[in-house]
Amino acid sequence: MVNKQKNILVCVAWPYVNGPPHLGHIAGMSIPADIFARYNRLIGNNVAMVSGSDMHGTPVTLLANDLGVSPEEISSKYHDIWSKSLKDMNFQYDLYTNTHTDNHMEIVKDIFSDLLAKELLEIREQLMPYSITENIFLSDRLVEGECPCGDNEKARGDQCEQCGKTLDPSDLKNIRSKRDGSIPEFRKTSHYFLKLSQMESKIKKWINSREGWRQNVKNQSLSFINEGLRDRAITRDLSWGIDIPVEGWDDKKIYVWFEAVLGYLTATVELFSKTENPDQWKDFWEKEDSESYYFQGKDNIPFHTIILPAILLGIGGKNLPTDVVANEYLNFAGREFSKSSNWAVWLPDFLEKYSPDSLRYYLTSIMPETSDSDFTWEGYVASNNNELVATLGNFIHRVLTMSHRNFDGEVPYFDTNSSSTKEIIEKSEKALEEVGESISKRKFRESLNKLMNLARFGNQYLDKHEPWKKIKEDKKSAGEVLGQSMIIISAISSMLEPFLPNSAEKLQKVIFNDKKNNWNLILPISGDKFDKPTPLFEKLEEEKVLEENGMISDE
Ligand SMILES: [Zn+2]
Repeated sequence: MVNKQKNILVCVAWPYVNGPPHLGHIAGMSIPADIFARYNRLIGNNVAMVSGSDMHGTPVTLLANDLGVSPEEISSKYHDIWSKSLKDMNFQYDLYTNTHTDNHMEIVKDIFSDLLAKELLEIREQLMPYSITENIFLSDRLVEGECPCGDNEKARGDQCEQCGKTLDPSDLKNIRSKRDGSIPEFRKTSHYFLKLSQMESKIKKWINSREGWRQNVKNQSLSFINEGLRDRAITRDLSWGIDIPVEGWDDKKIYVWFEAVLGYLTATVELFSKTENPDQWKDFWEKEDSESYYFQGKDNIPFHTIILPAILLGIGGKNLPTDVVANEYLNFAGREFSKSSNWAVWLPDFLEKYSPDSLRYYLTSIMPETSDSDFTWEGYVASNNNELVATLGNFIHRVLTMSHRNFDGEVPYFDTNSSSTKEIIEKSEKALEEVGESISKRKFRESLNKLMNLARFGNQYLDKHEPWKKIKEDKKSAGEVLGQSMIIISAISSMLEPFLPNSAEKLQKVIFNDKKNNWNLILPISGDKFDKPTPLFEKLEEEKVLEENGMISDE
C-alpha cells in the first residue's frame, strides 16, 4: 500500500473549566478524536492533535463569583485537573494548553487587529441586558429566558440548546439574570461587530460543497445559514478575558466565542514554537492538501461550521475544516449529565477505581454518533464482562496460554503456505483494511464492531478445531490451529491500539517483545519465544460496582 504522507490536524473541542471532566465530556469528543489521531499516526500520517481549556467562559466567572475567588484561580485549578484526567485516559494530545497563555492572547489580538484593518469589524451600539441589582452588564450566558422556538424556557442568551439556534439576549422572552434571578433592563453599550453578513454567500457555498459530513452537521449548518447570517458582537462588558487591542477599550474584553475557536490555530502555533521548525504549524493550516477534523458536541456545530470559517476566511490563507465531527449527547442512566444536580460520573473518580481501557471500550461501543446514548453502570459491567473479557480477552488468553504451555513458550509451527493459513491471513488483512476504512470515515462504533468480529471469528475457529483436544493425540495439528490463531491475535493487536492503547501495548509486548507502531499484519514466526501471558482484562462484579458508585442503597 503506497500512501502519501498527509498532514492531519485533529482538533478537539475546548471545554470550559468550571469543574472536573465527566464521562459525557469525553464520550463525544476526546475518544473519537484520539481513535482517529492514533490510527492516522499508525498508517504513517503526520498528525497534530490539539486542544485546551477555555479559561474565559462565563461558567468560570459564575463559579468564581459564587465562591468569592478569582476566575483565574478557578480556571487554573480545573485546567490542571482536566490535563491530568486526559493523560490518565491515555489521550494522545500533542498539546493540551489553555486560552490564558500569552501565545493565545497575543495571536487573538493580532487577528482582531487584522480583521479591523480589513474592515470586517465595526463599532456599533447595542442594547444589552443590564443588571440593576448588581450594576453590571450581563453577557449572553449570564441571562436566560424563553427561546422563540417555544421548546425551551431556559435558553441561554447566545444559543438555545433545544433547537441549536444561536440567539441574542434580546431574542429571549421573560429574560432574567442567572446570577440572582433579577429582571435586567436593556441599556446601550458599544461593541465591535464581526460582519458575518458579508460572508454569507461564501460560507453557504462552502458548506454545500462539503462531502462526507454527517447529516446532522450539514443540516444544522444550512438551516442556520438559511435564516440569514447576522453580524455579531465579538466584545463584551466583562473584566475577565482577552484585552481589546484598541486604545480606550480597557473596560471591555474580546468575547469568548470569538477567541476560543481560535484556540485550534494558536495551539498549533504553540505546539511547534519550541521545536527546530517553529513554522511547521503552517503545514497544517496553510498547505492546501492538509486536512483538519473538529471533534465536537452537537451544541457546538455552528461555531465550527460558520463562525470559525468566517474568521478564517476573513484573515485569509488558512484551511477551513475538512470535517466537523459532531456527536449527540451521552446521558447517564436516562438523564442528561448535570453538574448542578451532581448527576454525573466524574472521570477522576472513575479512574481511581477502574481501567481507562474498559471505559474507552464501553464509551466507543455506545458512542452517540447519530442519536443520544446512555451510560449505565450495568451496561459498563456487561460490556466489560461479556465483550472485553468473554470475547476478546478469552480468545487471546486461550490461544496464548495453550501455546505457551504446550510448545515451550514458543510460537507453534504452522504452515504459512497451507490453504487454511492463507484464509486466516486474508481474513485478518481484510479486517485491518475494513476497520481502518471505518475509522477514516469517522464511523467509530462500526470500526470497533468490525474489530470484535475478528475476535468472534477467532473464538469460532478455536471451537471448531478444538486444539485442547487435539493436543494429546495430534500435537502438530493443534499447533497449526494455535499458530494460525496467533496471526489473528497479531492483527487484533494492531487494530486495538487506537481503541485500547494500554491493552494493545501489553499484548504486543507479549507476542512481539515490543510495541510495533504500524497498521500492517505481521506474521508470528514459528519457534519465536514469547512471554507467559497474563489476562488482558479483568471481570467486574456488578453488585460491587453498583455499590461502589452509590447505585444500591443500604436498605
Ligand atoms: Zn430554541
